[in-house]
Amino acid sequence: MESQIPFLIVGQGIAGTTLALTFWRNNIPFVVIDRGFEKSASLVAAGLYNPFTGPEMKLTWNAKALFESLSDFYPWAEELLNAKFFFPKTIYRPFLSVWEQNEILAKASENPAFVGEEPPLSALSETVNNPFGGLSTSQSGFVRTPVYLEAARQFFKKSDCLLEEEFLQNEVEFNSTGITYKGKNYQGLIYANGVAASEGPFEFVPFRPNKGEVLNISWDKSPSFIPNRKVYLVPLPEPNTYKVGATYSNSFEHTQPTELGKAELTDHLNNLIVGNWEVTNHLAGVRPALADRKPVIGMHPEQPFTFIFGGLGAKGISLAPWCAVKLFNNLVNNEILPTEIHVLRFKKRYQLLKASTKSKVLAT
Ligand SMILES: Cc1cc2nc3c(=O)[nH]c(=O)nc-3n(C[C@H](O)[C@H](O)[C@H](O)COP(=O)(O)OP(=O)(O)OC[C@H]3O[C@@H](n4cnc5c(N)ncnc54)[C@H](O)[C@@H]3O)c2cc1C
Repeated sequence: MESQIPFLIVGQGIAGTTLALTFWRNNIPFVVIDRGFEKSASLVAAGLYNPFTGPEMKLTWNAKALFESLSDFYPWAEELLNAKFFFPKTIYRPFLSVWEQNEILAKASENPAFVGEEPPLSALSETVNNPFGGLSTSQSGFVRTPVYLEAARQFFKKSDCLLEEEFLQNEVEFNSTGITYKGKNYQGLIYANGVAASEGPFEFVPFRPNKGEVLNISWDKSPSFIPNRKVYLVPLPEPNTYKVGATYSNSFEHTQPTELGKAELTDHLNNLIVGNWEVTNHLAGVRPALADRKPVIGMHPEQPFTFIFGGLGAKGISLAPWCAVKLFNNLVNNEILPTEIHVLRFKKRYQLLKASTKSKVLAT
């Protein structure tokens, strides 16, 4: 691998930013190209990382490795970027019934490393509806993504490794040692461009974009924990303000916020918290999710020097640091990528797509 020639990373969301910083940490040269954040899921994200997932609070896939990696990466990135965006915090999930209490506590006891200390009873009764008690997590918290992305953007700019412009596929040319983009040489091209990766050389990857809506609210309480049941409340920088998320939808007509989304969130919020609150903003974004809900990483089945780093779905914050190390080790140390996240798990789809494109061309 020629170390002087940079990689070109398309996208500066959570994926591209975390990958680029991992390259920086390991002295791998790169250039990031990003057109701005308008269509970025990362900017809408609440930035929560939670070792438990879904209504049954199952341990999230690969939790131990993911959470070790994120708790190493974000504090390091804060120091490098001289910005504060990593906030470890307990998540408190009130139970809905005695049955749920028994089920969830029994499952959680199998993973004591992720179970935290209960907040004081008085703090709970002042803020959340919890007649059946609840579960507190440890190793959880949130990353303030707008601060993370902006600090990284300034850092990349200062370090002369950012192109603030639209990436144009038709400007890519291949040569025997890498690619050329607008006349400059790169040793590889890495698509970390969120849902936009479903167009271009990785169109065979079964993306299932998932729309999410969030509300910003003001609330007359300020718990020391993150309340979470059907919705979560992640603190925003201003006192007594929170991001409330999120809705999940695989079928949507547009990417704007909807009244239906707002009604769903406010309904869950009314069931979860006590006190006075009001909506101050309403946002929507599209998660780059895959049908099998795993990330997608690695080299294109046939096109040389072309990689993907994406499919982070609803868990960009916890997946990105571990996945970035995996791709780095694959590129530099020839380590084999885990099958579950490898782009080659979709090789058959690629071959089918290629064959059908070929037969269409022959038919015309
Ligand atoms: C409502 C909502 C709430 C969420 N909450 C959480 C949460 O609490 N915790 C969590 O971990 N995850 C959360 N997520 C998921 C998280 O947002 C995603 O996993 C993550 O943002 C994906 O990052 P990405 O970099 O792959 O994609 P994106 O954030 O979409 O970034 C892609 C980047 O590529 C750029 N780009 C695309 N095409 C081009 C081009 N042609 N030229 C130049 N630039 C281009 C875009 O400008 C953008 O900056 C949430 C998502 C939504 C929608």
